[in-house]
Amino acid sequence: MELALLLWMVLSLTESASAEAEQYSRAVDWLSRYGYLPPPDPRTSQLQTKEGIEKAIRVMQRFGGVQETGVLDSETTKLMSTPRCSLPDIVGSEDMLRKRRRRRKRYALSGLKWYKKYLTWSIDSFPSSSYSPGLPNDMVESILTHAFKAWSDAAPLNFRKVPSASQGTAAGGDIRVSFASLLHDDGYPFDGRGGTLAHAFFPGWDKMAGDTHFDDHEIWSYGGVGESTDLFTVAVHEFGHALGLSHSSTDPSIMRPYYQGPVEDIPNFKLALDDRLAIQQLYGVKDNRPPGGVDPNHPSLPRPPPPKPTRPSQPSFGERCHARFDAVANIRGEVFFFKGAHFWRTKRDGSLVSLYPSQIKDFWIGLPPGITRVDTVYERKSDSSIIFFIGSQYWVFKDTVAMSGYPRPLSEWGMKTKNGALVDRLDAAFIWAHNGKTYLFSQGEFWRFDESRKGEQVTRNPDPGYPKDSSLWEGVPSDMDDIITWGEGDTYFFKDNLYWVIKNGGLNQDVISPKSISVDWLRCPAPPSTSTPAGPRFPKECKCDLRGSSSILRSSWILLISVLLVINDFIRK
Ligand code: ZN
Ligand code: ZN
Repeated sequence: MELALLLWMVLSLTESASAEAEQYSRAVDWLSRYGYLPPPDPRTSQLQTKEGIEKAIRVMQRFGGVQETGVLDSETTKLMSTPRCSLPDIVGSEDMLRKRRRRRKRYALSGLKWYKKYLTWSIDSFPSSSYSPGLPNDMVESILTHAFKAWSDAAPLNFRKVPSASQGTAAGGDIRVSFASLLHDDGYPFDGRGGTLAHAFFPGWDKMAGDTHFDDHEIWSYGGVGESTDLFTVAVHEFGHALGLSHSSTDPSIMRPYYQGPVEDIPNFKLALDDRLAIQQLYGVKDNRPPGGVDPNHPSLPRPPPPKPTRPSQPSFGERCHARFDAVANIRGEVFFFKGAHFWRTKRDGSLVSLYPSQIKDFWIGLPPGITRVDTVYERKSDSSIIFFIGSQYWVFKDTVAMSGYPRPLSEWGMKTKNGALVDRLDAAFIWAHNGKTYLFSQGEFWRFDESRKGEQVTRNPDPGYPKDSSLWEGVPSDMDDIITWGEGDTYFFKDNLYWVIKNGGLNQDVISPKSISVDWLRCPAPPSTSTPAGPRFPKECKCDLRGSSSILRSSWILLISVLLVINDFIRK
């Protein structure tokens, strides 16, 4: 009896030990397959070290966004069994990943790209109806066309479908799409249902370059209902590879390696900011054309029947050219234009990151989900945090994530109007380069704060003697939409669709007439002038520009000196 019990114990122990060993070896396989461990060396048949594996698990956990424990906990094994793309996550060394993590933008590029902007594609084979019964061929074609459009909406790329190699004498397109199972002649076999879903080859001169393969054993569908896998989501991801993008650890990003279910609103799908930045890094920013438009010199893309009835698309593409902005902010040297639930962003050189607006809620994490506008935003000088004001509340952001404990009431800033009422909403906020102080504006009055001293409390009291009247800022509207400091410490006032520049320190505004925000900052067509024929006219090159306005400023430099005495008065603001 005792012997039997002992035997049972020994057996169950060995069993659990061998199950553990098996799980461990499966994990090592997984880690080498996706680039977290070097491939096993056949010459030495040396095993991976325990430390090496732990380190690889940590990197994998960091990349996948789960808790970094270094052990195969349940969350990690679950992630390892999530269906995914079969391309590796780590192409370079781990140090590369570390470097990437330090940057806010975490997209990764393969180092390869197409050196042409007109690309052809073909479908060499369709999904088997036995596995994907709900997906007729014309639906597949329509879904893939839309998946390409996601990328051509963001970068100046054009995709044209051509007959496949099997359909005639042509060799198929640059990007040849096929549905294949298990071994399929490229050295990267699929694995049946689940596990790996698809892969694509990076651009290049190789025959396989750009080719995109989907595992035919998956149940492909439109919309990913039930147990099926959404073809659109996976196709956008794989075409990202076919255009030169690697896997990203950013969330949201279509280039995350794991399948995360269908994207929201497939007909109106728009790439996340990081993916747009990545594709624009390779191919430039799309401009001069309406969304999804084609070059008139090129055969036009056949317009597919939309997979679902399309609702009017709402990228508010043209909205940047009209009317006013709720808030304008200089954040890390980039200028953000907020309007409704969206924002546009310019780079340090003044050029626009994208003509398409981004959703505030997708980029700034921690604001109310149904956000419809912000009042004003500025970057605090003392600790580089970013402050958002919406109605009677404010948020403090570290980079793009709100700190815990926010929102807090605006009343904490201690601003009272001349009539003694508490301020319940702000119009504008900025830091004046001239003295490094923070200025908050509401309803024709402004308050000054000294935020240079450390500690949260000191920010809560305006300097004595405030509010003052906004009309003290001569030559600009006293009810401006927002104000920033930009360029070489110059102050920019925004009101409706115009902006005024006050050179560092200030000067009589009569010498600078307001200019158009849309034309100078947001790449909108200049209004037709009498000398040019009617019709939209696009700026050839982005001169967005402060170069234009600074030349005006330079010519008024002499004037500026002559009004130095006026400035003296200004300083007392
Ligand atoms: Zn992938
Ligand atoms: Zn393949």
